[in-house]
Amino acid sequence: MREPDRRLDAKGVACHVLIDGWRTVSPRFVFHGYDDDVQGESVRPYLDTEGKLPGRVAAMLIESADGLVLVDAGNGRFAPELDVGHVHEELASLGIPPWDIRCVIITHGHADHVGGLVGPRDEPAFPDARHVIHRIEAEFWSSAEAQALPNAAGLPARTALMALLDAELLDTVEGDAPVATGIDAIEAPGHTPGHLAVIVNDAVLWAGDTFVSQLNIPHPEWVSLSDMDGRTNEATRRRLLERAAAADLLLAAAHMSISGTVARTGDGYELRPSERS
Ligand SMILES: [Zn+2]
Repeated sequence: MREPDRRLDAKGVACHVLIDGWRTVSPRFVFHGYDDDVQGESVRPYLDTEGKLPGRVAAMLIESADGLVLVDAGNGRFAPELDVGHVHEELASLGIPPWDIRCVIITHGHADHVGGLVGPRDEPAFPDARHVIHRIEAEFWSSAEAQALPNAAGLPARTALMALLDAELLDTVEGDAPVATGIDAIEAPGHTPGHLAVIVNDAVLWAGDTFVSQLNIPHPEWVSLSDMDGRTNEATRRRLLERAAAADLLLAAAHMSISGTVARTGDGYELRPSERS
């Protein structure tokens, strides 16, 4: 079932959450070393009848002053066994053709974020967009190590990066980098080596896969099996949570089905869900 248009208001700059699809995942994947005795009480209310956690796959479209900016592009054709790959339909439902996208920020190289960057013949799906990725992320997914990952996990990123390089559409960034007016790419390593988060108009923090569950806000130490470096990601989470709390940012993320502001508590942080997510 398609979700209605989901908007996040970045102080007057409209952001649209684009749903690539929904999937269910084991809590043992979302929380590495899952222990029902320790985590069950918090996690159990979210489990479906099969004991899995429902989770979305999402990208974000920003109506920036410099034109349309897309953050990630979903699975594209790379997960045919799942009901995903709907980012392009989401754009069409907003009346936006792919050539209207001026910039694409790539948070990281996992298939559910880069698959939709290429079309059926491996051509760039957004032919008039400058594509931005962290230098370290581009180097990792171009490496022999990434090509040796099981289940051809490196193939979508390699395919996309080669297509974008060929078309001279790829820009690498380092450090925290302004990408367009009011849009900053923020270094957020750990999930992958050069993962980027995005801050829009000092109001919305799109955390990519830094947070894969809303339970990561009270429990930034519950790292995911998909984190390449869990302890580095935990440190990144704490840094982003502190920044979100201090600046009253709306925190949203690709696989987190609710968004909200972050409040400090006695010993950590909690998410205050917004009315619309
Ligand atoms: Zn992901």
